Amino acid sequence: MTQLTADEFSELIKEVFSHNAILEYATEENTEKFRKLSLLLQKANAETNLTAINDTSEIIVKHIADSLLACDRFEKSKSVIDIGCGAGFPTLPLAIARPDLNITALDSTGKKIAFVKSTAKALELDNVNAVCARAEEYVAIANKRESFDYATARAVSRLNLLNELALPFVKLGGSFIALKAKDGDNELAEAQNGINLFGGKVESVKHTILSDGNDFEAQRIIIEIKKIGNTPAKFPRSYAKIAKKPM
Ligand code: SAM
Repeated sequence: MTQLTADEFSELIKEVFSHNAILEYATEENTEKFRKLSLLLQKANAETNLTAINDTSEIIVKHIADSLLACDRFEKSKSVIDIGCGAGFPTLPLAIARPDLNITALDSTGKKIAFVKSTAKALELDNVNAVCARAEEYVAIANKRESFDYATARAVSRLNLLNELALPFVKLGGSFIALKAKDGDNELAEAQNGINLFGGKVESVKHTILSDGNDFEAQRIIIEIKKIGNTPAKFPRSYAKIAKKPM
């Protein structure tokens, strides 16, 4: 595992953020929080395997920068639910870069939510609320139906499954911002029927490249689905039904 000094970390953040058109978020204060996040993730990974990515430069590119590619898509001071946030991505980088957003980080794995909670506290991120629950259950048990301005998710499942977990949380006029990799266009084509059923409409599809400025490049597709109608009460179905027949 490569450990960088604070200065080296700061230089690398600036370089990577500049290559990904997110340099405005690399303020001194944010960079110190990104550094602490990276150290806390490595410490937690040494004790319990939270994420496969553990090298500092890889954390900067593949977790932090990747989580911020859609950072400017969220309107000011809105509420966001991050479905299947895992160890806090995109939640934690987004909460650092956008302190105006009020973010609910949702995941069904207790140890991941424990990490998000303790890290948000250590980084003094009072705009993060971490919840351990299954998305398809939490929407009803916590009375969270159509109560968020935005839902977002990265690396959880294909879009045809994910839409049924995410869109029920989104208010009319709000959006689901899905962070997708190179197969995003195909996922979108196979999810069209469900998007209509759940009250959504594709607002935009943005293709971009996640890059470290050297030899790493990966395609990213940011899909925004706007909520134009209420999601019928029968959705979301049980996870077994969603997984058996995604829409
Ligand atoms: N979003 C994180 C990231 O990009 O690093 C985590 C991705 S991880 C591959 C997928 C996460 O989704 C897991 O932590 C899993 O527990 C969570 N997950 C999957 N289905 C879920 C559901 N129905 N409700 C809540 N969390 C779910």
